[in-house]
Amino acid sequence: MTLKPPPLRNDCFALPACVNWTPVDQALALLKTRITPVTGVETVPLAQALGRVLAQDVLAQRSNPPLPNTAVDGYGFAGAVAEGEHILPLVAGRAAAGLAYDGSVPAGQAIRILTGAALPAGVETVILEEDVTLGAGEIAFRGPLKRGANTRKAGEDVEAGEVILSQGRVVTPADLALAAATGVSTLEVHLRLRVGVLSTGDELREAGEEAAPGQIYDANRPMLLTLLAQMGFEAIDLGRVHDNRAALQDRLDAAAAEVDVILTSGGASAGDEDHVSALLRDSGALQEWRIALKPGRPLALALWQGVPVFGLPGNPVAALVCTLIFARPAMGGMAGARWQEPLGYQLPAGFAKHKKPGRREFLRARLRDGQVEVFKSEGSGRISGLSWAEGLVELGDGALEIRPGDPVRYIPFESFHL
Ligand code: AMP
Ligand code: MG
Repeated sequence: MTLKPPPLRNDCFALPACVNWTPVDQALALLKTRITPVTGVETVPLAQALGRVLAQDVLAQRSNPPLPNTAVDGYGFAGAVAEGEHILPLVAGRAAAGLAYDGSVPAGQAIRILTGAALPAGVETVILEEDVTLGAGEIAFRGPLKRGANTRKAGEDVEAGEVILSQGRVVTPADLALAAATGVSTLEVHLRLRVGVLSTGDELREAGEEAAPGQIYDANRPMLLTLLAQMGFEAIDLGRVHDNRAALQDRLDAAAAEVDVILTSGGASAGDEDHVSALLRDSGALQEWRIALKPGRPLALALWQGVPVFGLPGNPVAALVCTLIFARPAMGGMAGARWQEPLGYQLPAGFAKHKKPGRREFLRARLRDGQVEVFKSEGSGRISGLSWAEGLVELGDGALEIRPGDPVRYIPFESFHL
């Protein structure tokens, strides 16, 4: 049985009244409190769990290591040894990983033991084989050695019953190692969030088609569909629609039955041909987000038949920045993940810039020789700059006078799974 959480509330995207341009942090804080998981839950084997979002805390089923064992190849015996030379007789047989030694080792005697082997009864301490001279049926070595030397205690890494991974975590390869080691073979994960991508605009053509001089190729869909897949969502191609309200309405109706979230691009402003915002406004659920952000024009947010719609700007640069900064954490939250802040680094600027106050700015950037370079133009139609860039520089809301060498916050695209 799969359990599905309730849909988002109708007012989930409402901004506080009387704010003209909402600061980025305020808009994000709001999303953070309003967004809740919308996807159901399923149980998958470890091999299928990479990149999935944990729907429950995971408990260790057994301790790691399960028994006290040896960390090295050598010889095991009881107790500590004092300073000076020692000779110990060897018992017959040996203890190896996975092969329990079923006898017990009498005090004052030693046993050959190999890395990972559980300590036989009577063994507390292991001496490295490199520190031993092997004779006929006995070993000679030098003390001192503490009791327990070169051994691992049962549960010293993880105790059975401990929480090893918590709800909302996106599963990594190392998490799978931890789960397997502690006796966990399946994980409860959220179903992948299904994200539909729709381009709007009469001018758009598909890559590979003929394009008249007044037409342009749809650049947003190939970018957004692949970006979403890299972020671990199930990206669903909703195609393109013309700037035609009835066509748009039909497409949204069909999509709402099939996906968990819809990303549209284009037509989100208040112009004559901005049918996305007009249609969403007439449906009654539109929230126009005027965010103090460059690049980015109004971001249209709405619920269409209960399905959240992110109306992204048409401009590919703004569409990408709005997706990374707003849609990504929101979609993560809908997918059941913990709120994800992109990891940024303070690094010296390789540029100078005078920034006006009143809005957050993201510049296309990359790291060269320890310095952050920015693209030669801030023009938001410059798709070549997106491809040139390997990350973004985030400049705070206030005025800034940046000189070469000043620290700036650089966020590599990897931080967004791009
Ligand atoms: P709009 O938001 O519809 O006014 O579009 C803003 C700008 O982005 C216009 O120059 C559009 O032609 C362009 N644009 C819109 N959608 C796309 C797209 N899918 N690919 C490339 N450019 C686009
Ligand atoms: Mg348009």
